[in-house]
Amino acid sequence: MDILLSEAQIQERVRQLGRRIEAEYHGRPLTIVAVLTGSLVFLADLIRQIGLPLRVALLQASSYKGAVSTAGPLLLNEAFVPDVAGRDVLLLDDILDTGHTLSALVRQMTERGARSVRTVVLLRKLGRQEVHLEPDYCGFTIPDAFVVGYGLDYADDYRHLPYVAILPGSHPPPGAGG
Ligand code: 5GP
Ligand code: MG
Repeated sequence: MDILLSEAQIQERVRQLGRRIEAEYHGRPLTIVAVLTGSLVFLADLIRQIGLPLRVALLQASSYKGAVSTAGPLLLNEAFVPDVAGRDVLLLDDILDTGHTLSALVRQMTERGARSVRTVVLLRKLGRQEVHLEPDYCGFTIPDAFVVGYGLDYADDYRHLPYVAILPGSHPPPGAGG
Protein backbone atom coordinates (compact mmCIF):
# COMPACT_ATOMS: atom_id res chain seq x y z
CA MET A 1 0.00 0.00 0.00
CA ASP A 2 1.09 3.57 -0.64
CA ILE A 3 1.93 5.27 2.63
CA LEU A 4 0.42 8.73 2.65
CA LEU A 5 1.49 9.79 6.15
CA SER A 6 4.34 8.10 7.99
CA GLU A 7 4.29 7.25 11.67
CA ALA A 8 6.86 10.00 12.36
CA GLN A 9 4.88 12.63 10.45
CA ILE A 10 1.71 11.78 12.35
CA GLN A 11 3.42 11.76 15.75
CA GLU A 12 5.01 15.17 15.15
CA ARG A 13 1.73 16.71 14.00
CA VAL A 14 -0.19 15.22 16.94
CA ARG A 15 2.39 16.74 19.29
CA GLN A 16 1.84 20.15 17.71
CA LEU A 17 -1.95 19.87 17.97
CA GLY A 18 -1.62 18.83 21.62
CA ARG A 19 0.49 21.87 22.43
CA ARG A 20 -2.00 24.23 20.79
CA ILE A 21 -4.96 22.66 22.56
CA GLU A 22 -3.11 22.76 25.87
CA ALA A 23 -2.40 26.48 25.47
CA GLU A 24 -5.94 27.35 24.41
CA TYR A 25 -7.86 25.29 27.00
CA HIS A 26 -5.76 26.14 30.02
CA GLY A 27 -8.04 26.67 33.05
CA ARG A 28 -11.18 25.50 31.24
CA PRO A 29 -13.36 22.41 31.92
CA LEU A 30 -12.34 20.41 28.87
CA THR A 31 -14.23 17.32 27.71
CA ILE A 32 -12.92 15.56 24.63
CA VAL A 33 -15.76 13.68 22.92
CA ALA A 34 -14.45 11.17 20.39
CA VAL A 35 -16.48 9.44 17.67
CA LEU A 36 -15.99 5.67 17.69
CA THR A 37 -14.29 3.68 16.28
CA GLY A 38 -11.88 5.25 13.84
CA SER A 39 -10.76 8.01 16.19
CA LEU A 40 -9.45 5.68 18.92
CA VAL A 41 -5.76 5.77 17.99
CA PHE A 42 -5.73 9.52 17.39
CA LEU A 43 -7.55 10.06 20.70
CA ALA A 44 -5.07 7.93 22.64
CA ASP A 45 -2.07 9.75 21.20
CA LEU A 46 -3.52 13.26 21.39
CA ILE A 47 -4.67 13.20 25.02
CA ARG A 48 -1.15 12.21 26.10
CA GLN A 49 0.12 15.44 24.52
CA ILE A 50 -2.29 17.64 26.49
CA GLY A 51 -1.01 18.45 29.96
CA LEU A 52 -4.35 19.59 31.38
CA PRO A 53 -7.10 18.05 33.48
CA LEU A 54 -9.62 16.71 30.98
CA ARG A 55 -12.47 14.26 30.61
CA VAL A 56 -12.83 11.78 27.79
CA ALA A 57 -16.11 10.50 26.40
CA LEU A 58 -16.78 8.17 23.50
CA LEU A 59 -19.74 8.41 21.17
CA GLN A 60 -21.15 5.95 18.72
CA ALA A 61 -22.59 7.92 15.86
CA SER A 62 -23.06 7.58 12.16
CA SER A 63 -24.96 9.42 9.53
CA TYR A 64 -26.86 6.69 7.78
CA LYS A 65 -25.94 6.39 4.13
CA GLY A 66 -28.21 4.40 1.89
CA ALA A 67 -27.80 3.45 -1.76
CA VAL A 68 -27.90 7.10 -2.70
CA SER A 69 -25.06 9.32 -1.61
CA THR A 70 -27.20 11.66 0.47
CA ALA A 71 -26.65 11.26 4.19
CA GLY A 72 -29.64 10.58 6.39
CA PRO A 73 -30.20 11.60 9.98
CA LEU A 74 -27.48 11.06 12.52
CA LEU A 75 -27.85 7.81 14.46
CA LEU A 76 -26.58 8.38 17.98
CA ASN A 77 -26.22 5.74 20.66
CA GLU A 78 -27.84 7.55 23.57
CA ALA A 79 -26.24 5.27 26.17
CA PHE A 80 -22.87 6.82 25.36
CA VAL A 81 -23.80 10.49 25.41
CA PRO A 82 -21.92 12.27 28.22
CA ASP A 83 -23.16 15.11 30.40
CA VAL A 84 -21.56 18.12 28.76
CA ALA A 85 -23.56 20.89 30.47
CA GLY A 86 -21.23 23.77 31.27
CA ARG A 87 -18.22 21.99 29.78
CA ASP A 88 -15.94 23.08 26.96
CA VAL A 89 -16.38 20.28 24.44
CA LEU A 90 -13.80 19.33 21.86
CA LEU A 91 -15.33 16.89 19.36
CA LEU A 92 -12.69 14.58 17.93
CA ASP A 93 -12.93 12.46 14.80
CA ASP A 94 -10.52 10.61 12.56
CA ILE A 95 -11.51 12.21 9.28
CA LEU A 96 -13.73 14.99 7.99
CA ASP A 97 -15.34 13.73 4.81
CA THR A 98 -18.79 15.05 3.94
CA GLY A 99 -18.99 16.79 7.32
CA HIS A 100 -22.45 15.44 8.18
CA THR A 101 -21.35 13.51 11.27
CA LEU A 102 -19.44 16.29 12.97
CA SER A 103 -21.84 19.09 12.11
CA ALA A 104 -24.74 17.09 13.56
CA LEU A 105 -22.71 16.38 16.69
CA VAL A 106 -21.82 20.05 17.13
CA ARG A 107 -25.56 20.80 17.17
CA GLN A 108 -26.18 17.95 19.65
CA MET A 109 -23.51 19.12 22.09
CA THR A 110 -24.76 22.70 21.90
CA GLU A 111 -28.34 21.58 22.57
CA ARG A 112 -27.11 19.60 25.57
CA GLY A 113 -25.75 22.74 27.18
CA ALA A 114 -22.04 22.67 26.37
CA ARG A 115 -20.32 25.95 27.19
CA SER A 116 -18.41 25.80 23.92
CA VAL A 117 -18.05 23.26 21.12
CA ARG A 118 -15.02 22.98 18.87
CA THR A 119 -13.74 20.25 16.58
CA VAL A 120 -10.47 18.44 15.97
CA VAL A 121 -9.83 15.98 13.14
CA LEU A 122 -6.68 14.16 12.14
CA LEU A 123 -7.57 14.26 8.44
CA ARG A 124 -9.66 16.35 6.16
CA LYS A 125 -10.45 15.21 2.63
CA LEU A 126 -10.22 17.73 -0.16
CA GLY A 127 -13.33 18.40 -2.21
CA ARG A 128 -15.69 16.14 -0.27
CA GLN A 129 -17.48 18.42 2.12
CA GLU A 130 -21.25 18.69 1.70
CA VAL A 131 -21.96 20.79 4.75
CA HIS A 132 -19.87 23.72 5.81
CA LEU A 133 -17.78 22.97 8.85
CA GLU A 134 -14.37 24.47 9.42
CA PRO A 135 -12.51 22.23 11.89
CA ASP A 136 -10.84 24.23 14.67
CA TYR A 137 -7.85 21.88 14.64
CA CYS A 138 -6.83 19.73 11.68
CA GLY A 139 -3.84 17.44 11.34
CA PHE A 140 -3.55 17.01 7.59
CA THR A 141 -5.50 17.84 4.45
CA ILE A 142 -5.43 14.85 2.10
CA PRO A 143 -6.56 14.11 -1.47
CA ASP A 144 -9.88 12.37 -2.14
CA ALA A 145 -8.85 8.73 -1.72
CA PHE A 146 -9.98 6.00 0.66
CA VAL A 147 -7.43 5.81 3.46
CA VAL A 148 -6.77 3.24 6.17
CA GLY A 149 -4.54 2.87 9.19
CA TYR A 150 -4.00 4.82 12.42
CA GLY A 151 -7.52 3.87 13.50
CA LEU A 152 -9.19 4.00 10.09
CA ASP A 153 -10.53 0.72 8.75
CA TYR A 154 -11.61 -1.02 5.64
CA ALA A 155 -14.04 -3.86 6.51
CA ASP A 156 -12.73 -3.66 10.08
CA ASP A 157 -9.13 -4.32 9.12
CA TYR A 158 -6.04 -2.09 9.03
CA ARG A 159 -6.92 0.00 12.11
CA HIS A 160 -3.72 -1.09 13.85
CA LEU A 161 -1.31 0.27 11.24
CA PRO A 162 0.83 3.06 12.74
CA TYR A 163 0.69 5.04 9.47
CA VAL A 164 -2.02 6.21 7.06
CA ALA A 165 -2.10 4.49 3.67
CA ILE A 166 -4.23 4.64 0.54
CA LEU A 167 -6.25 1.49 -0.02
CA PRO A 168 -5.23 0.30 -3.50
CA GLY A 169 -7.74 0.47 -6.30
CA SER A 170 -10.55 1.51 -4.03
CA HIS A 171 -13.46 3.76 -4.43
CA PRO A 172 -15.08 4.67 -1.11
CA PRO A 173 -17.33 1.63 -0.47
CA PRO A 174 -20.83 2.44 0.77
CA GLY A 175 -21.10 2.18 4.52
CA ALA A 176 -17.40 1.62 5.14
CA GLY A 177 -15.60 3.32 7.94
CA GLY A 178 -16.92 4.15 11.37
P1 5GP B 1 -18.72 12.33 7.27
O1 5GP B 1 -17.79 13.51 7.44
O2 5GP B 1 -18.91 11.98 5.82
O3 5GP B 1 -20.02 12.49 7.99
O4 5GP B 1 -18.14 11.04 7.93
C1 5GP B 1 -16.82 10.86 8.21
C2 5GP B 1 -16.66 9.39 8.58
O5 5GP B 1 -16.64 8.58 7.40
C3 5GP B 1 -15.33 9.18 9.27
O6 5GP B 1 -15.46 9.27 10.66
C4 5GP B 1 -15.00 7.76 8.82
O7 5GP B 1 -15.61 6.84 9.71
C5 5GP B 1 -15.64 7.61 7.47
N1 5GP B 1 -14.67 7.84 6.39
C6 5GP B 1 -14.65 8.86 5.52
N2 5GP B 1 -13.61 8.78 4.66
C7 5GP B 1 -12.93 7.66 5.02
C8 5GP B 1 -11.73 7.04 4.51
O8 5GP B 1 -11.05 7.47 3.57
N3 5GP B 1 -11.33 5.90 5.14
C9 5GP B 1 -12.01 5.37 6.20
N4 5GP B 1 -11.52 4.25 6.73
N5 5GP B 1 -13.14 5.93 6.70
C10 5GP B 1 -13.59 7.07 6.11
MG1 MG C 1 -16.03 7.68 11.96
